[in-house]
Amino acid sequence: MKIFKSKHKLQKEILNIKNISFVPTMGGLHKGHISLIKKSKSFKGKTLVSIFVNPKQFNEKKDFINYPRNLKKDLMILKRLNVDLIYLPNSKDVFSFQVKNKIFLDKFSKKLCGKSRRGHFKGVLNIVNRFLEIIKPKYIFLGIKDFQQSYLINIHILKRKINTKIIHCKTIREKNGIACSTRNNNLNRNQFKIASNVIKYLRNKKRLIKKELSNFKFLNIKKDLMNLGLTKIDYIELYNSKTLKRPKNKKEKFKIFIAFYLNKIRLIDNI
Ligand code: AMP
Repeated sequence: MKIFKSKHKLQKEILNIKNISFVPTMGGLHKGHISLIKKSKSFKGKTLVSIFVNPKQFNEKKDFINYPRNLKKDLMILKRLNVDLIYLPNSKDVFSFQVKNKIFLDKFSKKLCGKSRRGHFKGVLNIVNRFLEIIKPKYIFLGIKDFQQSYLINIHILKRKINTKIIHCKTIREKNGIACSTRNNNLNRNQFKIASNVIKYLRNKKRLIKKELSNFKFLNIKKDLMNLGLTKIDYIELYNSKTLKRPKNKKEKFKIFIAFYLNKIRLIDNI
């Protein structure tokens, strides 16, 4: 396992490597990240994992500061997984060069998380665009848990004709149903239980929503969710994940997209 803190040293190392499978992360590694890395290792070539908590995608400084970090544990996990290359840049290394491609921010960035997290997706695309220019990976592995993020990265890659293919990876969950997330580290036991009840509730409701799709209202569901112990619901919305339109037809496949707060901790999921 080789660790690089400088893009120039990393680029020198990977110059002659044809197939790079890239897994970008913000560290605080969990089973979700591990599944992405294992999938990437099943592809031909070398796996490169980055750990960088990107300040530009946090719309609140406090949130950035409180984001769980544990580099020592992360490096142990990556070593155990036998990852080939690790990139651990600082802000200067990734933000101090002129990019070739301008960010393409699709209008879907204004929906869901884009409504309450101003500048978030611009910050995400900024860093991903830079990573793609530095690394030029053949594949990039992204989790469907962050559906909106991977959708927007995909549009950016297509619009800017970048030669990298996205491999979308399924959401890995804890035994109690909640999606693995670095932010779960900040939950106490009670909050962990409430989050689990929210997911169980939504899974049950999805069947009912399917039946009543045409005149369905979220009002009662929001009330029920608040009664489970949520501090705030940022959004709860239905989308057909292919067309990105509201589902109207009973036969359509759709997902429930939700963002909610437990005290100051914000979690997102799609079910
Ligand atoms: P993050 O470190 O939160 O920025 O996530 C890095 C990558 O891991 C992103 O592509 C996420 O979508 C993905 N990821 C995060 N949580 C999960 C999960 N529970 N299951 C699968 N992938 C995940």
